[in-house]
Amino acid sequence: MRSFADTELMYLKGVGEKRAKLLADELDLHTFRDLLHYFPFRHIDRSRFYKIRELTGEMPLVQIRGRFISFQIEGEGAKKRLLGLFTDGDRLMQTVWFSRVNALRDAYRTGTEYVLFGKPTPYRGSFNMVHPEVSAYNPDNPPKGFEGVYNITDRIRKAGYSPKLLSGLLRNLLSHPGFADLPETLPQEVVDEFRLMPLKEALSNIHFPENANLLQKARERMKFEELFYLQMHILRFSRARSHKIRGLVFARIGEHFNRFYSECLPFELTGAQKRVLREIREDMRTGRQMNRLLQGDVGSGKTMVAFMSMLMACDNGHQSALMAPTEILATQHYETLSGWAAQTGLSVRLLTGSTRAKERKETLAGLLDGSVDLIVGTHALIEDTVRFRSLGLVLIDEQHRFGVAQRARMWAKNDIPPHVLVMTATPIPRTLAMTVYGDLDVSVIDELPPGRKPVETMLRFDENRMEVNRLIGRELAAGRQAYVVYPLISDNPKLELKSVEAGYERICGIFPQYKVCCVHGRMKPDVKDAQMQKFVSGEARILVATTVIEVGVNVPNASVMLIENAERFGLSQLHQLRGRVGRGSDRSYCILVTRQSIGGDTRKRLNIMTETSDGFIISEADMRLRGPGDMEGTQQSGIAFALNIANLATDGQILNFARRAALRILNAHPELVETPGDDSDRTEGELHISQQSINTLRLELRYRFMKTVDWSQIS
Ligand code: ADP
Ligand code: MG
Repeated sequence: MRSFADTELMYLKGVGEKRAKLLADELDLHTFRDLLHYFPFRHIDRSRFYKIRELTGEMPLVQIRGRFISFQIEGEGAKKRLLGLFTDGDRLMQTVWFSRVNALRDAYRTGTEYVLFGKPTPYRGSFNMVHPEVSAYNPDNPPKGFEGVYNITDRIRKAGYSPKLLSGLLRNLLSHPGFADLPETLPQEVVDEFRLMPLKEALSNIHFPENANLLQKARERMKFEELFYLQMHILRFSRARSHKIRGLVFARIGEHFNRFYSECLPFELTGAQKRVLREIREDMRTGRQMNRLLQGDVGSGKTMVAFMSMLMACDNGHQSALMAPTEILATQHYETLSGWAAQTGLSVRLLTGSTRAKERKETLAGLLDGSVDLIVGTHALIEDTVRFRSLGLVLIDEQHRFGVAQRARMWAKNDIPPHVLVMTATPIPRTLAMTVYGDLDVSVIDELPPGRKPVETMLRFDENRMEVNRLIGRELAAGRQAYVVYPLISDNPKLELKSVEAGYERICGIFPQYKVCCVHGRMKPDVKDAQMQKFVSGEARILVATTVIEVGVNVPNASVMLIENAERFGLSQLHQLRGRVGRGSDRSYCILVTRQSIGGDTRKRLNIMTETSDGFIISEADMRLRGPGDMEGTQQSGIAFALNIANLATDGQILNFARRAALRILNAHPELVETPGDDSDRTEGELHISQQSINTLRLELRYRFMKTVDWSQIS
């Protein structure tokens, strides 16, 4: 017999076959459990009435109490609309309906006290509400309590339903006799230990909360559960991974490292660089494969850390490979590393798609016989023809451009898999890293080399064009170079955005005396590289581009980064773009240009850029504002789909508790780990749970993760 939770929605009072199909097709709701876990995305406080003077343009749905002063029908046919002038006794606002105009005109009265419910939009100095819900205000029975608001799709709306369809069905479901016997989905010991609201109470209160406090507790419980199972799942696999994979032992620090460190270092290492190097060194001598993520803001000096790690590999008789996402980046790395390596007598080679056949042959031979110590390249390095005598360390720059599968192919190039260091300049907050990368170790360079001048960042509008052009002109005249970035490649009549193609023409017109080059993602790689090369060499003084230049390019002579339609970019992306300038010693500028009429939220967001140059603050803000699903580097992990209620940006504390609960249970019950090891985290202690709880746990894990990716493969 099916359990209550697994019962098909068709059998719920008020559903039936047709609605069941609609709910399944549109919202992926199939069973009672699915519906119970379809949480309101927001709750409205029905006891709260707003005054018109309190409204702002960014409010969600609000309630306003008052009276209509007058009604007026305007327009004809499809444009016919009903306007109502409404007052709360203090100020006036406008309401508009575009359908059922005559019927509504007859239904509503002037002078009667109503409650309006809708979203206010700024309109001619006051506010306007389109299609508000209108109900008579009854002083004997005023609206109260919290009401859930559910997401529905257009098709459901077209079928004649409102979000209230879901609250109605949930009422039926919660009063179904079977609900009383719904089993707890967390181990009882966890509910007790962390004082969580029991499942049934939480479900009732998340859909129909009696007050704000209970709603909060209910949400916390459901978030905890979600994060707990996610952590449980990750740790079950990642622990097995760290146990299983034997790594090369780099026992010594030898001649190359020491000589370079004492005689050749071109600058004093920052404290953060030294710390990270120690962490890497520790990893590489444990006998377990290193899998480390190195986060460091643009310009924080990751390349030197990479190089010195390579020296450690050399000193232990192994070769190293550095992979970059583009040919230009690979070439830049090659030049940098060659300069340093020459001083310690190591041999470095470059391998990309455009390496000539003869040179390629020599390089491949050198890798195989061990005469080449370091190889720098693009994904050309992944190919099976690239074989090593002994590959000990793989470094990957700007990780999100490489797929998981590609990295795995590098592992296979040595009998014992090489150590792996993944470098990224898109810092992600710790809570997110913990979840996206599971047990992957994370190192952070949180300090910039001394003497860096922050890039002067400003927000400008279309009407400030002249000023902006003057600034660019001045920098160009002083011999510097400039980037101009657009959100689109070509003009699109549907979007009011600026494009590279139109921008190129415009820039050539404004600065006819300078050579302008242009890159975007639709160009063939060799054309793109040739254009880019013109800018790197200084032949072209202005580079017009889409965000393809975001990753890593180093042109120290560039001092201006102009970003058009800056409102279209995420903060992390803007930060990356800004990192392209400020690499020389002179003052640099980042100019964010938008239309004048951007909303308050957008302006607030862009102001973060003008206020700070700290990549971590920016990425935290970005995640808070956009949600983790949109963050660079998280899409491929599937995390955007995995979370239903928890928010990694704001639920860090719950995540910590949930992770600790999972660790303690795994410590007490190693049989739950996929491949039991002896590397449990003793600092967290143990939490013993009953056999019944173990069954609950296994069932829930199967339920939640049967369909999803193997998280242990993510790093
Ligand atoms: P990123 O972390 O963005 O890859 P890079 O490794 O390209 O940064 O370093 C940026 C610049 O800073 C380079 O020119 C590099 O030589 C320089 N640099 C790195 N570390 C230091 C340091 N400790 N002191 C001074 N300059 C440094
Ligand atoms: Mg770099």
